[in-house]
Amino acid sequence: MDIQIQLTDKKSEIPNPSHLGFGSIFTDHMFEMDYTEGVGWHNATIKPYGPMMLDPSFVVLHYGQETFEGLKAYKSANDEVLLFRPEMNARRLNASNKRLCIPEIPEELFLEAVKILVGLDRDWIPSESGTSLYIRPFVFATEPTLMVHPSKKYKFMIILSPVGSYYKEGINPVKIYVESDYVRAAVGGVGFAKTGGNYGASLLAGEEAKAKGYSQVLWLDSKEHKFIEEVGTMNVFFVLKGQLVTPSLSGSILPGITRDSVLMIAKDMGLEVIERRITIEEIFEAHSNHELSEVFGTGTAAVISPVGELCYKDKVIQINHGATGELAKTLYEVITGIQTGQIEDKYEFRQVIE
Ligand SMILES: *Cc1c(COP(=O)(O)O)cnc(C)c1O
Repeated sequence: MDIQIQLTDKKSEIPNPSHLGFGSIFTDHMFEMDYTEGVGWHNATIKPYGPMMLDPSFVVLHYGQETFEGLKAYKSANDEVLLFRPEMNARRLNASNKRLCIPEIPEELFLEAVKILVGLDRDWIPSESGTSLYIRPFVFATEPTLMVHPSKKYKFMIILSPVGSYYKEGINPVKIYVESDYVRAAVGGVGFAKTGGNYGASLLAGEEAKAKGYSQVLWLDSKEHKFIEEVGTMNVFFVLKGQLVTPSLSGSILPGITRDSVLMIAKDMGLEVIERRITIEEIFEAHSNHELSEVFGTGTAAVISPVGELCYKDKVIQINHGATGELAKTLYEVITGIQTGQIEDKYEFRQVIE
């Protein structure tokens, strides 16, 4: 498919890389493509970034038929533009789409759109340590109707945002509240899909945790409220008796690409890596037996985020005395080293944008 390109005639000023924050500044251009039942995907266009017209009856506004992705572009020391495993995002978007009755997007088209858009706005990719260009592809239902059925029309868009650290703590440990009442997702539901509804449903728990001084919640399973699922926007790992342990993909947690990369890299480092069910009691017990040495979250936004404190039903534990663990530090360095082209990429995770 041909991508039409309309360049902006008023370029914005590239922001100062030391004040980026996360996701509030956008580049000059965006990608947009339409789907109509019977016609398929068409009108692939790159155009100036800006507001758009919405019909108040768009299906997405009423019934939440939406999916999204998140990945990053980096600039290497010799000015190459690098993507990290973008084919995994293309595949996962379609897995989410399938669950939400949204038509699939050809993976080559997804990759081509990302590469052309990022290439066009490449001057916006910051190169300071800890910064990158966040890429947000998303799909939403645009049929104007209040009928509850899969929409006959959709828009697929990609927007770009230069970002710094996701947490104000940077690579420093965050405090996490273990949620024992609210749940995020149930097996059979949409927990494995990257869809806005999962986030809408999680906000209240997040706000209540914030009021208690915690930056995110750790979710437990919806049935027994005892098995660990994941943190708000990250998968979670534990170093237990020297083994690296993470909840197995149960259908109710998001299959993170950073999670998958950590599993591969840690195995390669010779660590014993185990995906299994883990109860929250097991973690607190291991802590009191001095068998819990690290806890960290993984996700594109924060890469590796060490957890310094866990609170569960008024019991508070400090992990590794509230300091960043050795494994978290090493994994952060290896992954960001591969992402930014500083170290050899023996897993072939990187793709260069020509
Ligand atoms: C996106 C996301 C993650 C992390 O996935 P990555 O592919 O590693 O970025 C984890 N949990 C949830 C709920 C997510 O939406």
